[in-house]
Amino acid sequence: MRKLALHWQILLGILAGILFGLLAAKMGWGKIVTDWIKPFGTIFINLLKLIAVPLIITSLIKGVSDLKDIGKLGKMGGRTFALYLITTAFAISIGLIIVNIVQPGYLIEESTRTMMMEKFGDNAAKRIEAAAEAQGRGPLQSLVDIVPDNIFGAATQNGNMLQVIFFVVFFGIGLILIPEEKARPVTAFFDGANDVIMKLIDLIMMSAPYGVFALLAALIVDLPSADLLVALLGYSICVVAGIALLLFAFYPLLVKVFAKKGYLFFLKGIAPAQLLGFSTSSSAATLPVTMERAQDYLGVDEEVASFVLPIGATVNMDGTALYQGVAAVFIAQAFGMQLDLAAQLGIIVTATLASIGSAAVPGAGMVMLVIVLAQAGIPEAGLALIFAVDRPLDMCRTMANVTSDATVSMLVAKSLGKLHAPKGS
Ligand code: ASP
Repeated sequence: MRKLALHWQILLGILAGILFGLLAAKMGWGKIVTDWIKPFGTIFINLLKLIAVPLIITSLIKGVSDLKDIGKLGKMGGRTFALYLITTAFAISIGLIIVNIVQPGYLIEESTRTMMMEKFGDNAAKRIEAAAEAQGRGPLQSLVDIVPDNIFGAATQNGNMLQVIFFVVFFGIGLILIPEEKARPVTAFFDGANDVIMKLIDLIMMSAPYGVFALLAALIVDLPSADLLVALLGYSICVVAGIALLLFAFYPLLVKVFAKKGYLFFLKGIAPAQLLGFSTSSSAATLPVTMERAQDYLGVDEEVASFVLPIGATVNMDGTALYQGVAAVFIAQAFGMQLDLAAQLGIIVTATLASIGSAAVPGAGMVMLVIVLAQAGIPEAGLALIFAVDRPLDMCRTMANVTSDATVSMLVAKSLGKLHAPKGS
């Protein structure tokens, strides 16, 4: 019998997890799920995160040194950042158009608003506090943060991915500049190590259907009550519709027009990474799989994938930016505020920056949303209004975040003549 494709296996894991979670919630098995099932989901995420830093190091050193020319690196970097900015600004604009047409904030009743502010006020205050730390820093602090003062220090924290990337690119440049016979054994070592890491990803992915089952089951038993979800239905639909447009129209269209690859080819190639993004709510945890799928199934050359994707996982978050745009306008509407065109254009700029600054971990987009709200003069405490549905929306926006990275990697690869026939099928 033919084995079921990986994306179907993961999808089955997700569905089974949701059904089991619902059953468990109904039967009052919440503690059993938390004690005996959730840990397997955590182990699965830990395994993926465990592989992320070694993967960036081994693949990027090889990728950069293979370029053999620093000028090429500059060209690739320029195109990557330009495409990341363009897709993000486009994503927020889609979100703003939808939320202005649907106007979900006006559907929230005064009593619901007060109830949510009371219920989630503390949670919102914590996010606002976390954002204040980011806000209180000087204008160039983000730049300073990219340059680590200790590589081992940087590599021990998954949140410092950009620092690791900085060091590795720097190391790769050194490798290009030394005589080839000296560089050869170093490159050969990282090349071999990279194959080992890719094998480990294959092994980890064998457990993916079970891992996502555990993650989803644990999530569902913790979900807030249905009436809260219904009150936020209009808002949630705006975010999900915007993300669906990105996933099923915008990215496949970009791939079709600029990389000349078909709709199904693209979606089938990237689906396991999308589903994993959905299950883990973390672009960083999904990175190993995004890299593997882009190289083996979308035909992106390793030189390009190893550069574009780790950076994308950290700075390119279209789904997060779209969500921040919709959420800001929704909260403004719920408070009876009118945002004029200038204010909404301001949101495009701040949400682009806030999405770049969001860490690739669950819930990070909400912390940075505080900055978008503050800039637009919208009450930050309004965060309490969207709290109940943040996790499910985080799952959706992470799907868009990883898909955008993969799309840009294909476009950059195509523009450099580095898009090949895929190895897998
Ligand atoms: N969870 C998202 C990611 O990892 C970030 C966010 O929007 O919270 O891509």
